[in-house]
Amino acid sequence: MDGPIEFGQFEEGRHCNYWALDPTIQRELRRVYTDGEFEWAEPRLEEFGEVVGHTIADNADYIATHGPELHSYDKHGEVQNFVRYPAEQFEDEELAYEAGIVADAFRAPPGRDEPMPFSHYFGMLYLLSYAETSGFVCPVAMTAGAAHVLETFDDGTLAEYYEALTSRQYEDVIEGAMFLTEKQGGSDVGAAETTARYDEDSGYWRLTGEKWFCSNIDGEGTLALARTPDAPEGTDGLSMFLVPHGDPDGGVLTKGRRHAFDGAPPPAALNDQYYRRLKDKLGTTAVPTGEVEFDGTKAYLVGEQERGFKQMAEMLNLERLSNAAGACGIMGRALLESRIHAANREAFGKPIQEYPLMRADLVDMTVDHEAATAFTFEAARVFSDRERAVRASEDGTAADGESDRSDAYRLLRLLTPVAKLKTARMAIDTASYAMEIQGGNGYVEEFVTSRLLRDAQVLPIWEGTENVLALDVLRALDREAAHEPFVTTVQERLDGIEHPALSDTAATVESEFHELSGAMADLAGRDAEYAQLKAKRLARYIFDVYTGALLLEEADDALAADDGRMALVARRFVDRELADEEARGITDGDRFAVEYFEPIVHFAPVRAEAVAGPPVEDQS
Ligand SMILES: Cc1cc2nc3c(=O)[nH]c(=O)nc-3n(C[C@H](O)[C@H](O)[C@H](O)COP(=O)(O)OP(=O)(O)OC[C@H]3O[C@@H](n4cnc5c(N)ncnc54)[C@H](O)[C@@H]3O)c2cc1C
Repeated sequence: MDGPIEFGQFEEGRHCNYWALDPTIQRELRRVYTDGEFEWAEPRLEEFGEVVGHTIADNADYIATHGPELHSYDKHGEVQNFVRYPAEQFEDEELAYEAGIVADAFRAPPGRDEPMPFSHYFGMLYLLSYAETSGFVCPVAMTAGAAHVLETFDDGTLAEYYEALTSRQYEDVIEGAMFLTEKQGGSDVGAAETTARYDEDSGYWRLTGEKWFCSNIDGEGTLALARTPDAPEGTDGLSMFLVPHGDPDGGVLTKGRRHAFDGAPPPAALNDQYYRRLKDKLGTTAVPTGEVEFDGTKAYLVGEQERGFKQMAEMLNLERLSNAAGACGIMGRALLESRIHAANREAFGKPIQEYPLMRADLVDMTVDHEAATAFTFEAARVFSDRERAVRASEDGTAADGESDRSDAYRLLRLLTPVAKLKTARMAIDTASYAMEIQGGNGYVEEFVTSRLLRDAQVLPIWEGTENVLALDVLRALDREAAHEPFVTTVQERLDGIEHPALSDTAATVESEFHELSGAMADLAGRDAEYAQLKAKRLARYIFDVYTGALLLEEADDALAADDGRMALVARRFVDRELADEEARGITDGDRFAVEYFEPIVHFAPVRAEAVAGPPVEDQS
């Protein structure tokens, strides 16, 4: 057992190693990787944590106030759709893509015979989010998402694009994007009006219409939804297209080719579209989000016609889990800044971390981070397992979920929206509180907390709002009977808890688990209006029970190795989120946060015997 970590040695959460200072992500990845995978990955994650903590963290601070600019026209009045990025952004891109942030999950990286599980991608994205809190993280996630879609649905026609999306050589890289939202519909994707017709002369599909929110607007591997002639209304009539930024007749416009131009590529090198303007956003400065007009824009059909929405669901699932991993990374950074500041800042003659209320705040922020990360990386593990199974299946079955009735897929359908819904809100809460812990400075732009909060605020909106995700939870239960694998996996975990120090906590989770199962059965018999009214509560309840069981399992394993910290984390989470309390806990005599501050917040070693008893009671 290592630790504690002396957070007071730092002045701020920059110029340090985000991997080395985050035992939570280390533990979660060690848990979901095989030994061989972890051995391969650990030094690389350490190296990436160092790069993100130094160069990328500095660059992110700069880009936050010097973000991309759009120059729609050239000096002759020709449309040039030129997005001008600061050089720091290119440096970040090169560092991240060459570190394999996307490539490693798709191609065997150096030193391995097969790709890493997707958990590795989610782990790197988490680390990147410490610095690039939802900005550059967005294009990275969409690059992985577009690659995932092409790998799953393309018949090889778009192999060049797939190769570029998954390249480790920065010169050969292209990035993905995802154009769904139109003015009349973001949540209601089926309202899309963009049309596609096949042009015999050029051999391309031609798109016409407007897209209203287009992040990474100039991505070369953009996937867009459009309606072909005579297609039905709603989502069933949508097909998926790859819409390059460059004129596809000129070949794939890789990063290397783009940088070879002196400034903007000439208008003749571009596809037929118009970038109207970039949105003036609250945050996420590093990613240009704009409005696009398609006007006979050249495009390739991806997969089957009129299956675009189902295919896009595969990308969305990956984006939603990426969102969750990013949310956990933001929480990690917010917590790092808070731990450092609370150790150094003195008020009334003592470091503020000495005060009971601050101890309780930091304990609860830490427990939230542990809970969010455990849930997200468990979902990432299920995602990785399913992808491996799909890749290994002879016919590549189960591509869009329709023929996939596996437990992994059905469980994932439930865990993904829940992960995105819960972690997004937790990230905002943690970032908001981290700002307050910095005091007045936290509200000042020179400190990172204002950016953390601004960037976190997008997490519940893009890739589906909380309400939309809660409705997706209902769909997963209704259409995929996702409660079946959910119930099995929670029960197995609870049955496996052996250590007596966990018995009270396990009993609480077990009891709530049965109540939750009853609630799921009850909702299944109710009308749609009633079920929708309760959907968000249900999603949160699912998170709490599943996380309770997960943390208990981790605690049980750790106790067997004479490590009591996770037992404390599980106990605090369950007591807070699932246990009944009288008078809101004010009278219960519990001094947990004061007693266990060091092991929980600073990772001080705590042996199993030290947590064997019931929670510390008021002795007065
Ligand atoms: C910074 C940023 C970047 C973005 N980038 C992209 C991008 O790259 N590509 C892309 O396609 N989109 C992008 N979006 C758009 C985003 O995905 C949508 O804004 C989001 O899905 C919501 O859609 P909407 O704006 O049309 O809101 P609406 O769908 O109109 O929703 C408005 C409100 O109504 C609620 N609501 C809707 N339907 C229901 C219902 N049935 N029951 C209960 N409540 C409901 C929603 O929860 C929301 O609170 C981006 C958005 C932002 C802010």
